[in-house]
Amino acid sequence: PVRTRFAPSPTGFLHLGGARTALYSWAYARHFGGTFVLRIEDTDLERSTPEAVQAILDGMQWLGLDHDEGPFYQMQRMDRYREVIAQMLEADTAYHCYCTPEEVEAMRERLRAAGEKPRYDGTWRPEPGKVLPAVPEGRKPVVRFRNPLDGDVTWHDVVKGPITISNKELDDLVIARTDGTPTYNFCVAVDDWDMRITHVLRGDDHVNNTPRQINILRAIGAPLPQYGHLPMILGSDGQKLSKRHGAVSVMEYPAQGFLPEAMLNYLARLGWSHGDDEVFSMEQFCEWFNLEHLTASPAQFNNEKLAWLNNHWIKQADNARLAELARPRMLAAGAVFDGAPDLATVLGLLKERTNTVNELADAAMLFYRAPQPDAALMTQHFTDAVKPALAAFAERINKIEWTKEAIAAMLKEVLAAHGLKMPQLAMPLRLIVTGQLQTPAIDAVLQLFGRDEVMARVARYL
Ligand code: GLU
Repeated sequence: PVRTRFAPSPTGFLHLGGARTALYSWAYARHFGGTFVLRIEDTDLERSTPEAVQAILDGMQWLGLDHDEGPFYQMQRMDRYREVIAQMLEADTAYHCYCTPEEVEAMRERLRAAGEKPRYDGTWRPEPGKVLPAVPEGRKPVVRFRNPLDGDVTWHDVVKGPITISNKELDDLVIARTDGTPTYNFCVAVDDWDMRITHVLRGDDHVNNTPRQINILRAIGAPLPQYGHLPMILGSDGQKLSKRHGAVSVMEYPAQGFLPEAMLNYLARLGWSHGDDEVFSMEQFCEWFNLEHLTASPAQFNNEKLAWLNNHWIKQADNARLAELARPRMLAAGAVFDGAPDLATVLGLLKERTNTVNELADAAMLFYRAPQPDAALMTQHFTDAVKPALAAFAERINKIEWTKEAIAAMLKEVLAAHGLKMPQLAMPLRLIVTGQLQTPAIDAVLQLFGRDEVMARVARYL
């Protein structure tokens, strides 16, 4: 059975790269009806915060990337790590090293001076027939992993293809510090083993950790997962994505009025492809997702494309849901909903052309605040020639059925009777009823306001 995991370090918000890693791991598990595990790698006590854990959980929840197991916290697994370290010491796959950090630095320096790659020189590594130095009085040891001295570590990366690293490049890694706390690569290896992870997808900043983790997994007799290292996400200028390209935190996107469907759809395509398909649901994505079509080259983040997808998913979205998302922003802007047109209906009318829910909310405001037409615009559009037409319009308001079609027909009648063209009446009507010149079609706007409200607003100018 496929078991994947997302293993964020809670040192900040959930960023776009992390969200994409989570999405692919989740989709791979879903594709096979497998298990998606959430693991919080919180052993960096200086940088990990509960707020960051919450931010990650919030981001995952907004995206709908539900986990089947966890969240597991590494800080709660310390006993387990100590247990494995004890077993490794017992099995001689790890050993105590009593060198001080200064001594290790000195031996590195010597090797560097001799033109060799600086590394731990194996002073405390037990070998048959070798006599180890005397244990210095009162000194606490670290535990080092007995890394193979020769040969290579090779894995077939599902994104990058075969990768080979010589064991000569790898030190005897410290797996427990003098105070007994386990180190990063060791914890990851034990966790992937205990959580029976079959596929590890993560950012390619971890490529150098993989051979170390593979050697540890081999030493403890664990099966190896498949690894895939995703290239990083770049900004539109080809530089590493950062704040100056816009929002990096996933949770800034709902605040800007993006729908999770759009973000997921966008991230799905940013590093994976399915022919020319650009627009698809997560259901479809989970059905299609495979490791063969992951992209090996870095992807560039493109705000316009995300906006285009957001427009698409806003058009698909249920209007009542959009209303719920738009309402708080509108209330903050002073919207009055009492006696005003139904918000869901209004948003349904406006959503064709908006890229974000925020734009949509702003566009809808015209229905929910008192019109305050600009005096100069009124003078320009509400001319003496228009005044009798407005009176004729007002006279007919109560005589027609209040439908879009009937309103349109009535407006035409008035125009014909007064020898006017549509904009000559529609523009001042817009100003009078909504306070602005840019609105959706005038018949639709009037219909939404309702007969009585239109009458009340027009009456002030008769
Ligand atoms: N905790 C690591 C990170 O946040 C991920 C480790 C992994 O996926 O193996 O980058």
